[in-house]
Amino acid sequence: MANDPIIIIGAGQCGQKATETLRQQGYEGGLVLIGDEPHAPYQRPPLSKAFLKGEMSLERLMLKGPDYFDQFNIDARLSRWVESIDPAGRRVLLHGGESVAYSKLLLATGTRSRKIPVLPGLDLEGVHYMRTIADVQAIMQALKPETRIAIIGGGYIGLEVASALRSFKHDVTVIEGMERVLQRVVCPQLSDYFHRLHSSRGVAIHVNAVLEAIEGAGRVERIRLRDGQEIDTDMVLMAVGAEPVCELAEQAGLTIENGVSTDETCRTSDPNIYAAGDCSSFFSKRYQRHIRLESVQNAIDQGKHAAGAMLGSAEVYDPVPWFWSDQYEIKLQIAGLSQGYDRTEVEGDETEDAFAVRYFAGDRLLCVDAVNMPRAHMMARRELANLD
Ligand SMILES: Cc1cc2nc3c(=O)[nH]c(=O)nc-3n(C[C@H](O)[C@H](O)[C@H](O)COP(=O)(O)OP(=O)(O)OC[C@H]3O[C@@H](n4cnc5c(N)ncnc54)[C@H](O)[C@@H]3O)c2cc1C
Repeated sequence: MANDPIIIIGAGQCGQKATETLRQQGYEGGLVLIGDEPHAPYQRPPLSKAFLKGEMSLERLMLKGPDYFDQFNIDARLSRWVESIDPAGRRVLLHGGESVAYSKLLLATGTRSRKIPVLPGLDLEGVHYMRTIADVQAIMQALKPETRIAIIGGGYIGLEVASALRSFKHDVTVIEGMERVLQRVVCPQLSDYFHRLHSSRGVAIHVNAVLEAIEGAGRVERIRLRDGQEIDTDMVLMAVGAEPVCELAEQAGLTIENGVSTDETCRTSDPNIYAAGDCSSFFSKRYQRHIRLESVQNAIDQGKHAAGAMLGSAEVYDPVPWFWSDQYEIKLQIAGLSQGYDRTEVEGDETEDAFAVRYFAGDRLLCVDAVNMPRAHMMARRELANLD
């Protein structure tokens, strides 16, 4: 059993980083990376930005060169789906019947686009999502000059897509169910800033607007909102968030807590199974609770960390979370988590599109959102890392 390979399920950014780290830290045993997508591990952030705008090739999305698997002696099984885990027998079962034994297992299964299960019209032609290369290729293929697009969800991905598609002069409408765009993640001042930014570039934004149905004969023709309003459209992008892919963990009897629950060393409730990246809900010493992050920072850092833990390290994973979003020529960079803030302070000049919002709970700094101020972002990461 100890001679069985380490298996990583999920060939995304986190799974890739874990394979690289295992080899860099001297692990010479068998290493199996299983992912259901046909592509080698790639970066997702450009999907809603440069790749969608046609400014980045498929090749440049890839995290590593074509010889990576050979060079690092990785048994990569792409286009393969893992059906189940047998934790007692330490085996994973692949679709098609193959079963592979493991010594340690890392779940890096990520998230998937959230679906609204009972929404009428969701299966019409012209309804799209934004998670994978295949999703973006389907959108690009469907876009014709002057296509009208309704984006459901005014979060980061919805707004990034709005900005990318406005550069081709498409007619873009954003439907947001809450009072303001980005409501779950930023303060009202920043929501207003981004609302104004998009409106000034020609995006029609509807807030407090609940989608009731997508309608059309076979393909999308219009959306209907709860207040009765109908908006004609050729395409719908569902951008209403993501949910952790936890079925394997659930079926294996692992603890689930808005993601696969782990301790501060990325270990799940089974001592031979670890979880990292978007799918994991880890105990954070910094925040004294379980948190789940959907960011490149976390996918990379936790992937590295889980690799070390599988090789016996007891080091605690306790990062300062950070994230970014690109919309038009604006780069928003976020350090920390703003949840629980009771006041904000602003530095810089909003009218010059260069300012930072600092979020506090009492005197304690929680988070800094920097707009076109990379230096303020870097300093905030250092400042937050130095807080006890
Ligand atoms: C459009 C978009 C834009 C983004 N922009 C930013 C950004 O600007 N900044 C930022 O910090 N973050 C951004 N993110 C988030 C970031 O890309 C993710 O946090 C990161 O990719 C998570 O990596 P992961 O490896 O944990 O999961 P994923 O990338 O989701 O990889 C998991 C993989 O596992 C596969 N899988 C799942 N279950 C199985 C199974 N049973 N068998 C086989 N394979 C399986 C999945 O299909 C997937 O390929 C963006 C994400 C998207 C979608």
